[in-house]
Amino acid sequence: MDYSPGTDERSFSRGRAVYYVNENYLQMVEESGGIPYLLPATDRHDTVAEMLEPLHGILLTGGTDLDPSSYREEPFEETSEFDRRRTFFEFALIREALGRNLPILGICRGNQSLNVALGGDLYQHLPRQVPGAVKHRAGKGEPVARHEIEIEPDSKLAQILGRTRLEVNSYHHQAVRKVGQGLRVVARSVPDGIVEALELPNKPFCLTVQWHPERDFERPEEKKLLAAFVEAARTYAKQR
Ligand code: MN
Repeated sequence: MDYSPGTDERSFSRGRAVYYVNENYLQMVEESGGIPYLLPATDRHDTVAEMLEPLHGILLTGGTDLDPSSYREEPFEETSEFDRRRTFFEFALIREALGRNLPILGICRGNQSLNVALGGDLYQHLPRQVPGAVKHRAGKGEPVARHEIEIEPDSKLAQILGRTRLEVNSYHHQAVRKVGQGLRVVARSVPDGIVEALELPNKPFCLTVQWHPERDFERPEEKKLLAAFVEAARTYAKQR
């Protein structure tokens, strides 16, 4: 599990840096039979390896934008609040987790992190770089953006959800552009074809989605996705 760094203006922290995760991620994991732990960012690689020892799966949460230097670009004006430490921590986490065949579920930023960690890159701002794209993020005061996705019929995602079309929420202004090494695009938005899910086919469970299951967790599809992740974590725990 990962968290977001930021500042908190409440009295106990008064603008000092804090690490936090939105509660709905934690509730979703617990409701699915898992036990959530939060991992603080570190740039020490040996610490990352030790952190993973007691864990049975990694959930990469949403958050602010990735540091664009991670895919060798200067930040666009619209690429705000990106965090260098978290970006490179996530990459270390992903590499370590893949090396151990630890199950990975990525959400929103997690989808983008996995892609860039494996050498892919991102559109920094969809409205500017893909002018014909459907609305992937609502403007201020607008209702949540939602759109259809089309899922590859022979993918793990389709197998888990039991369907190949789904309406999903959409809270992102960045998206996968060049696909990272070994990754398979398993869902795209309709009709603009923006990448909405990735799988690493040679791993027991490495699946990332661009939408937010934790914000629609009353839906059976989101419950199925989390149940599959927790099941993969159980299998990992048994086989280790
Ligand atoms: Mn979207």
